[in-house]
Amino acid sequence: MGKLWYGGKIYTLVDEGLTVEAVYTEGGQVVKTGTFSELTDEFGNHIQSWHDLKGNVMIPGFVDSHLHMIGHGEKLLRLDLSLVDSAEEMKRLLVEKVNESSPNEWIIGEGWNENNFPDRKIFHRDELDRIAPNNPMMLTRVCRHAILANSIAMDLAGITDSTTDPEGGVIMRDNDGRATGYLLDKAQELVKDAMPEVSLSFLEKALTSSVDDLISKGVTGGHTEDLNYYGGFTRTYKTFLNVINGTRKFRANLLVHHEVIEEMRMQGLGFGDGTEYVELGAMKLFADGALGGRTALLSVPYNDSPNTSGVAIHSVEGLEKLVQKARAHHMPVAIHVIGDLALEYAIDAIEKHPPHHGLRDRLIHTQVVNQDLIDRLKQLPVILDIQPRFVASDFPWVMERLGEERMKWSFAWKTLLDNRIPIAGGSDAPIEPVDPLLGIHAAVTRKRPNDTHDGYYPDQKLSVYEAVCLFTKGSAYAIGKEKERGIIKEGMDADFTVLNRDIFTCDPDLMLDTKAVMTVIDETIQYQDFD
Ligand SMILES: [Zn+2]
Repeated sequence: MGKLWYGGKIYTLVDEGLTVEAVYTEGGQVVKTGTFSELTDEFGNHIQSWHDLKGNVMIPGFVDSHLHMIGHGEKLLRLDLSLVDSAEEMKRLLVEKVNESSPNEWIIGEGWNENNFPDRKIFHRDELDRIAPNNPMMLTRVCRHAILANSIAMDLAGITDSTTDPEGGVIMRDNDGRATGYLLDKAQELVKDAMPEVSLSFLEKALTSSVDDLISKGVTGGHTEDLNYYGGFTRTYKTFLNVINGTRKFRANLLVHHEVIEEMRMQGLGFGDGTEYVELGAMKLFADGALGGRTALLSVPYNDSPNTSGVAIHSVEGLEKLVQKARAHHMPVAIHVIGDLALEYAIDAIEKHPPHHGLRDRLIHTQVVNQDLIDRLKQLPVILDIQPRFVASDFPWVMERLGEERMKWSFAWKTLLDNRIPIAGGSDAPIEPVDPLLGIHAAVTRKRPNDTHDGYYPDQKLSVYEAVCLFTKGSAYAIGKEKERGIIKEGMDADFTVLNRDIFTCDPDLMLDTKAVMTVIDETIQYQDFD
């Protein structure tokens, strides 16, 4: 017995613009697509439930190719600073939070971004001490490559003015040589390690909020990286298995940070293992930082800071060793690369140690490229995980960081597609909002929601079809599941997103006003918001 989905425009994405009237599903899969009368004639007696889309528009399920699901849940549960647009407002929210917390309780804020403040102020630890004299405080910057800590948090972490920078990290200091509380990349971990471990129940609560929020935005799956940040592989993996089960369905592919590979192996688990909904994916490692804090690794120094070229998280040999480690465990790699030099090092390592036959490596972000790197990428079994929404968040300040010459090759999604390099789309939530329509809007318009200009580097705009493919076909290809997901066709998983507007034909700005009204995963309605 099966289900019939009909009564709205259904884009299959098998080809651009291709639509069908109805889809018949059974046992979690698409059995056939066609006209309403064809399918009712053929399957009439087998149709157990009829799902009238009532004029809404169905597409293959959106899948976010790179995010941090527990981090997104934490953002939903914790003090969210991502919408703050002045230092005064940030201070006000912090004071409010401190007032409602008990002494010694950690004050944790997420997502501040000084680029959104008129004065671009970054708080000094002395100021944070005045706001929170009795509580340790840690405020994560939007990029997650930097934090602010107050003195109590610094003391707990054992950081003094004379502490030397850890490898791959920076402890920022003021003109008097005092540590300011601003900690970049690896230096963040000194504070994070000093924090009490989050409880299993908090983890489950965070992941549950995250999945429920994703489903309400029409997202049917996500490739997520969480396993190294919440007290180890075992408890974090268990959290996923507990939250995503036969009742709350979601297609989660879990990147495995290189530091927890051994723990995963001790559980007898490896690449591709898991359940129908929770699957272990590629080995995650970082090659560099991010552009915001000038820690993305560039081949030529920053345009607005000529003494800095960024930070390599590992030495060239170290990076190569980690790629070898993945191969030893029969795993593809998923490397965070933002700067062009980081990308070059990653390509060097992959060329020397290619993945096993049939596996695909992933390069996450790839914000700065050049012709030579593109030519080398074309020869490799890699897919790029891009976040189109970064265009809305990183412009215009990123143009100062990189300078005009390099901008032609930066955030250059159209150039990458024209070179036939496979690309998947994601949000990198909690850095960006999880709604894929925001990412699609940014890819298509190259601007922020309320901007009136023609878009930054408008020749890099994608068509709506190309942008939607990033979040459907692209994400399926990234994990080698292009024969099971990403399009609506016979034999494919029955994962659908239903929107209340046809985003392929509407004015792009109306996408911002478009909503997911139904989310179907494994043929089961997980979310519905129409009668
Ligand atoms: Zn990320």
